[in-house]
Amino acid sequence: MVVLGIDIGGAQIKAGMVDDQGAIIASRTIATPPDLDSFVPSLHDAVRWLLEATALPAGVGIGCKGIINPDSTQVEALTGSLHYLEGLRLSELLGLPRDVPVFADNDARVALAGEMVWGAAQRLDNVLMLILGMGVGGAAVVNGQILRGHTGVAGHLGHLTVEPEGAVCVCGNRGCLETVFSARAIEGEAWAAVHRGCASTLTRLFREQPQLATCRTVFQAASEGDDLAAAIISKATRRLGAALAGLLHIFDPELVILGGQVADAGADLLIPLQEEVWSRSRGLLGRDVPLVEQQVADKSGIVGAAGLVMAPRS
Ligand SMILES: [Zn+2]
Repeated sequence: MVVLGIDIGGAQIKAGMVDDQGAIIASRTIATPPDLDSFVPSLHDAVRWLLEATALPAGVGIGCKGIINPDSTQVEALTGSLHYLEGLRLSELLGLPRDVPVFADNDARVALAGEMVWGAAQRLDNVLMLILGMGVGGAAVVNGQILRGHTGVAGHLGHLTVEPEGAVCVCGNRGCLETVFSARAIEGEAWAAVHRGCASTLTRLFREQPQLATCRTVFQAASEGDDLAAAIISKATRRLGAALAGLLHIFDPELVILGGQVADAGADLLIPLQEEVWSRSRGLLGRDVPLVEQQVADKSGIVGAAGLVMAPRS
């Protein structure tokens, strides 16, 4: 059996056929078209190519930014370059026979669906997932089901308010978690220090090689003993740990999964984060909830989207 997984992103659309072990057996990547008139034929071409290379899929899973109605696959809200998809049903844009079931959801829930089927969340009923990327994506499994809420917004863990008077967030609120702990927030903090002329290896590095001005570089400098980088990472990690402790008190999960490019820092993030989270949450929970890295290695979003077809649902 194969299922078709599609990740619709602002820059690229990635589509692939995935087998029941979670392996991609054929895939296509196309640049995201600028308008609907070119989006539909481009997507049809990619899907047709995959069908000819493999077989008719048993189902289709689609991950897309924004607020997606998982029952109808309708894009309820989507800002940015893909705004032309608002109000449309993704299932009707594929050019596939109507009897092929199509499931769609936002990209964070799709990543969690992949973990439920092939990764760290298998056979677990209560799990939180944070995607620590340029922003912070979030999703939750509660009592065996992906949490969606009254209007489909539930699980946006990156928009938990952590600083009432903090920076304005992309969502319109102030001081959301993603304004203090995300690749963008950490890079912004480092650039601000560099512009102030702080003594740090980052000051020379960022000025001479701006392409290295990344969150990963800040983690690297911190692990090599740079005081400024260490202070930036430590402050951001403490805030993430505090927010996560609050989330553990609310959700009481068996496990927390961390994905995204910031989680690629591995033990440099995980160990201090665990200490912060556990010291804050041990009292009420009476145990240390494991924090683990994402297990589905595919970064394209294709496998997660395919997992949406197979994930348990009500
Ligand atoms: Zn926000």
